[in-house]
Amino acid sequence: MTKHKAETVNLVIIGSGPAGYTAAIYASRANLFPVLYEGFFSGPAGGQLMTTTDVENFPGFPEGIMGPKLMDQFRNQAARFGTKIISDDVVSVDFSVYPYHVVGKNHEHYAKSVIIATGANAKRLEIPGANEGEFWQRGVTACAVCDGAMPIFRGKDLYVIGGGDSAVEEATYLTKFASKVFIVHRRDELRASKIMAERALSHPKVEILWDSVVTKVDGGHVVEHVVIKNLKTGVETKKPAGGLFFAIGHTPNTAFLKGQVDLHDNGYIKVRDGTRTNLKLVYACGDAMDHVYRQAITAAGTGCMAALDAERDLAAEGLD
Ligand code: NAP
Repeated sequence: MTKHKAETVNLVIIGSGPAGYTAAIYASRANLFPVLYEGFFSGPAGGQLMTTTDVENFPGFPEGIMGPKLMDQFRNQAARFGTKIISDDVVSVDFSVYPYHVVGKNHEHYAKSVIIATGANAKRLEIPGANEGEFWQRGVTACAVCDGAMPIFRGKDLYVIGGGDSAVEEATYLTKFASKVFIVHRRDELRASKIMAERALSHPKVEILWDSVVTKVDGGHVVEHVVIKNLKTGVETKKPAGGLFFAIGHTPNTAFLKGQVDLHDNGYIKVRDGTRTNLKLVYACGDAMDHVYRQAITAAGTGCMAALDAERDLAAEGLD
């Protein structure tokens, strides 16, 4: 496909999760006429909530709402105030020129300001039975806080893979619903902080399976069993299970920014003074810069902040 002629706009927002859409709602209402690249081939526009079922912790929806429906509503609200939404993936940016150059697979723009809201993806393991089309989202998930309260997990033995703060936090959270929670960790020592590890270890419903991995997920309509392999003995054991939760970290979608904007060693974008990056008029929000909270509501909050920061800085520069 041929690229469209590049125009210069006030603001390009890269990403379409809660952070990107919220930034777009605020920026469009401030008459910045933002252009939002929502992604296309890289994954579903709308971000991680598009692969979630019931969202029960987003304020304003006491009965819960399906993730895709919630993101559709975010998107419609951004469009209603005039955000130009482009179904394309940004493949590169050039922040050495100004206006900044944002290049998608099929579109490109020059931008007086840029908000990066590309999110992060929970890491998953390719275990037989745990993939899309198998038991993914039918008992296998990568977010206990999002999915743990679903009826299919209640009163069941649940398995969490990982040994970091996420794993122990998610295991502790899941004790509210599970009959028992097993943390499956590949080593004999947790990576998690002492205080959080102790909370999990002292919980009567939590047990750690050390030096172990999950080698198979099985069931009927939903997960019913997992197979655990002890790496020291090589012995595999089939155990009844209502769910399997990956808690092995996240990868921020920032690879295309390397060398363009300051990143932490773990790939998350460095921000200071609100949502400002090291570059003037370039902002970051949502999971691309937040590896601690990672919730839809916090992503939306930082999206709002990024739009307000951009609006103020553009006005201060006389560029609005
Ligand atoms: P993390 O600290 O990177 O831990 C990931 C865990 O997953 C590690 O134990 C790792 O094992 C395991 N793992 C990674 N790849 C694996 C694989 N292929 N197979 C099996 N296991 C694998 O990630 P995180 O726990 O998500 O935490 C990320 C950051 O957020 C940390 O800085 C953490 O402190 C922070 N956080 C804070 C809170 C809180 O304060 N409330 C809550 C959650 C997260 P190894 O240990 O063997 O490498």
